[in-house]
Amino acid sequence: MAAAGLFLAGTDTDVGKTRVAAAILRTLRSAGSLVAAYKPVASGFASVDDERSDAWVLWDAAGRRGTPQDVCPQSFSAAIAPPSSARAEGRHVDERLLRSGFVTRLTAGDVVVVEAAGGLFSPMADETLGIDLARDFSLPLVVVDAARLGAIGRTLGIVRAARSEGLHLAAVVLSHTTPPGDDDGPVSPRTIAREAAAEIGRRTGVPVTILDHGAERMPPGIDWLALATG
Ligand SMILES: [Mg+2]
Repeated sequence: MAAAGLFLAGTDTDVGKTRVAAAILRTLRSAGSLVAAYKPVASGFASVDDERSDAWVLWDAAGRRGTPQDVCPQSFSAAIAPPSSARAEGRHVDERLLRSGFVTRLTAGDVVVVEAAGGLFSPMADETLGIDLARDFSLPLVVVDAARLGAIGRTLGIVRAARSEGLHLAAVVLSHTTPPGDDDGPVSPRTIAREAAAEIGRRTGVPVTILDHGAERMPPGIDWLALATG
């Protein structure tokens, strides 16, 4: 199957993945692409109709076609790893649906943006880590990290692991997860992020960009459609 899409993986949970996925979806849409979002499994919200849930945010950014349930067919309430969250409800994550749900999403748009739960090596189901889905879906990988101190080390670790598993790295995004503050210290987070982005780019050879806090779209400079089509 010749899928066009991107697989977004975090260096950790809470690094701004959903915001980056939504910004990429909006950017692709405004350039004329028919986009679909896929969240194989989510935890932390009782319902995908909750406007704060990843599924809802991605569905909204993708143009509100279909339902948030189409974006994320499996969702569990407790804000812990999906297999544990499912167990807490006496349920389990459906391994097959993780994969068949992706195939279904391929027909919903010309480009599919996938946001896994947590980090690249976080558990999605009893037998499946995020990286297993990344491999199965065969999409170019976008590594997302928070634009804060330690980004170089966190990002390069994940990139090296992903490449050693045979994944194709397309880009890295550093996301400002908090607004600029008064207690930012002598070197501003923006400067730290810019320097980290340059260093990560130099060491990985892929485009690295920075998403500002509150930004709805990706900054210019990267052709996301070209990356998504390999
Ligand atoms: Mg998320």
